[in-house]
Amino acid sequence: MQLKAIKNIFHKELKGIYPKEEIDSFFYLLIEHFLHLERFVLTLQPNLVVTKDEEEPLFKALAQLSNHRPVQYIIGSTTFMDMNFMVNENVLIPRPETEELVRWIIDDLNTKPKKDELKEIRVLDIGTGSGCIAISLAKHLFQAKVVAVDISRDALKIAKKNALSNNANIDFEIMDILAIGTSGGHYDVIVSNPPYVRESERNVMRENVLDYEPATALFVPDEDPLVFYRAIIQFSKNNLVVKGLLFLEINQYLGETIVTLLKQHNFSEIELRKDMFGNDRFIKCRYGR
Ligand code: GLN
Repeated sequence: MQLKAIKNIFHKELKGIYPKEEIDSFFYLLIEHFLHLERFVLTLQPNLVVTKDEEEPLFKALAQLSNHRPVQYIIGSTTFMDMNFMVNENVLIPRPETEELVRWIIDDLNTKPKKDELKEIRVLDIGTGSGCIAISLAKHLFQAKVVAVDISRDALKIAKKNALSNNANIDFEIMDILAIGTSGGHYDVIVSNPPYVRESERNVMRENVLDYEPATALFVPDEDPLVFYRAIIQFSKNNLVVKGLLFLEINQYLGETIVTLLKQHNFSEIELRKDMFGNDRFIKCRYGR
């Protein structure tokens, strides 16, 4: 069949579910992944014909897309900070907002005074998932020594593979932040993008997220939406050096509440920042005054 005919079928089948540009982007990702064809191939060879064997994975993927399975899980990878990350249903698909958080941390730590240049920066990522934050920081901050923890063994398996494939040196550990006591550790920087979507917000979320992404990485009870933030704050008080930095990704509706919580716990220089969509999404603060 002609490749352009397959593309038309994609548009016909998916048009009720996804915008046109997104369908194009799925199609190009899939032909690149399965057939090693560049996205401009149809411009160069508009009548390109693919064989039955070549068609098959594309139509299988189309059936999955119709069932709202994220394209990143179908091809098993995504890009984050211009790097390739393996993903499956055990880890959240890295979001573009989270790239903004990572860039903030990199910019912030790279503008430290020159005399500190050789000083190691001990960084901890809580709830690392695919490892995207930890690995990006390790790659961009040559002074960083990064530890990453997660409650999920299956997530850590993916994160370890991603560290290996991206050539990043990270210490991974299994840890339940809600169960940890006063564990030892001295960090200069702690970062976390914990679960923060309230159960009641499910109704505004898309099926591709609800049906496929790991609920443990996303949801918190309505009665206690800050359960992870309280634990992270307590842990940070025990394990951050004085004047150490805490960076958080947050629920857009809970910014002021988390700022108040941080003030009560002796954090200072609290900065609440919006994401590219104009929503309160990140916090930077310093432990101690
Ligand atoms: N931003 C993600 C979403 O809306 C949630 C990430 C999280 O819970 N940490 O799907």
